[in-house]
Amino acid sequence: MSEDEAYEYVKGTLKQEGIIPYNKHELEVVKSIENCINCGLCINHCPVVRAVGVDRFTGPRGIAVELSRSAPEFWTSVDRIYLCTGCGTCREVCPNNVDIPELVNLMRARIYKQHPELVPASLHEQMEILNKHDLAFEPWDDPEEKIESRDMRLERIGLPFVEDRVKAGADVLFYPGCQAEERSQEVREAAKVILEHFNVSYTLLDEMSCCGLPTTLIGDHEKTEDLSQKLLKKIKDLGVKKIVTTCAGCTSNLNELAIKENWNIPVYHMLEYLVEDIGIDTLANEFGKKREGSQEKVTVHDPCHLIRHTSRQVMDYAHMILTAIPLVEVRESELHDSCCGGGGLVGRHAPDVARGVVKSNVAEIESTGSDRVVTPCPLCTAQLEENLFREGSKVEVDDLTVFIAKSLPLEG
Ligand code: SF4
Ligand code: SF4
Repeated sequence: MSEDEAYEYVKGTLKQEGIIPYNKHELEVVKSIENCINCGLCINHCPVVRAVGVDRFTGPRGIAVELSRSAPEFWTSVDRIYLCTGCGTCREVCPNNVDIPELVNLMRARIYKQHPELVPASLHEQMEILNKHDLAFEPWDDPEEKIESRDMRLERIGLPFVEDRVKAGADVLFYPGCQAEERSQEVREAAKVILEHFNVSYTLLDEMSCCGLPTTLIGDHEKTEDLSQKLLKKIKDLGVKKIVTTCAGCTSNLNELAIKENWNIPVYHMLEYLVEDIGIDTLANEFGKKREGSQEKVTVHDPCHLIRHTSRQVMDYAHMILTAIPLVEVRESELHDSCCGGGGLVGRHAPDVARGVVKSNVAEIESTGSDRVVTPCPLCTAQLEENLFREGSKVEVDDLTVFIAKSLPLEG
């Protein structure tokens, strides 16, 4: 009997007991726990532990320990798995590459399949929306209201409206992601303004659908596969050469999918596209044509999905771009690369934990004395905006794509 046949035989036997054995990749991830030397570095750096303490969240090392307990014991402590934001800090600091965020995703998938009754109700509700609409948010009931909201947002930030375009054969697909499509519409609109300004041959999807990151975080891998296949078909039909997105989560997730499934279409965050394809000299030249307003102190928040799941270079680009904008003074926050608490769907399942995590960021942003905080992700923007407002802060918040569009010399 070959190894594969033996695996299928064992799988069939265990199925009767309701147990699903690990596949090769899962086994590698789980076995990485054996490399742990119990140094405690991950616990010291975990933003959730810092915010709520080890009694509520046992931390990355704690997750690893719980995974090695017997199955009945493990199932009694699964709630911890849903408090991890997936920020990736533990993996980054671990001297032995123990992959806790991947372990968390793996365990969430196990729980979803074997014990769906243990999945938090809010995440089941989220899945209902995803199954019904292929989007992470309920679409607007009234399309007219959505347009009104879009126009109000554009008026507030002083950007013109650019018509949507869907064009087969364009060079670039602009993929806004669910948050910018249904909620933070100003980010979607600002991206179109930028692409238009630099005469980029781009297109939108004729019908937006989710990239599958939320379904992966919840653990429904079948739905993730379904979303990925639907999206790939739309992308191939359009025949684009590149994908550009403005969301940190979409960037890291689409990048991973494109590599894993050999899409042969590179995925860029807007910041990467601007620096690598448009060029920093061209950008600086355009920004220089709009020398108006007063000096502004700006601090930056780094999204985890860019710095720890894509590449730290993306945020180097953010600094290059901000430095090229006249009248902008960049001020560094001590916690610029610390999780905002909005990841891993923790905000949906345990909003108090998400608020606890962002609290220290808010205090640190305040202490820089900045007028504005910018971040290249609509989800981080929403999380920071809500919590700065809650704390009565006067610091303004902009998605970085919006801030860049506002810094261009636009006609009209
Ligand atoms: S991924 Fe982030 S939140 Fe999750 S255990 Fe690691 S450090 Fe903590
Ligand atoms: S940082 Fe890595 S080696 Fe150290 S305790 Fe955490 S998982 Fe173990």
